[in-house]
Amino acid sequence: MCIKKEWIPNFTEYSVRNKSMYKPNKRERNYAHLAFSMALKSRVRHGKHCAILYNNRNEIVSIFVNEYNFVNGKQCSIHAEQGVIDNFRKSNPMVSLSDHTIMVIRGNIYGEFTMSKPCIHCYKCISESGIKRIIYSSYGVFSFERIILD
Ligand SMILES: [Zn+2]
Repeated sequence: MCIKKEWIPNFTEYSVRNKSMYKPNKRERNYAHLAFSMALKSRVRHGKHCAILYNNRNEIVSIFVNEYNFVNGKQCSIHAEQGVIDNFRKSNPMVSLSDHTIMVIRGNIYGEFTMSKPCIHCYKCISESGIKRIIYSSYGVFSFERIILD
């Protein structure tokens, strides 16, 4: 599956009702640093993202860095959120993700965490996967937001 740019509406807000600032615990901070260092290795020029999927025992079950993909000779990119879910599903088609958390981190070349709120397409993928908690890097120094899905 490949996300074409034109499929992604320029939504600035969604699910505002269940969104709040979030203070990650120590383990999540470590995950954020891990995801950050991996994101910086992404070859995607316009945004370097890494997504980590972990279960309620804080065990990482999947990691994915966004990457280019070619479909019918056209270049597009696989978003980190979609890749991390697809990777997990390949080997665990039947496992419920309802007690899993997805963390999405974006880094820039200046070594800063930047806004990594999932796009509307990834938001739909996450929602359909059954995942209930999304944590992502936000604006500001090492700040995070969290969305709890119904
Ligand atoms: Zn996306």
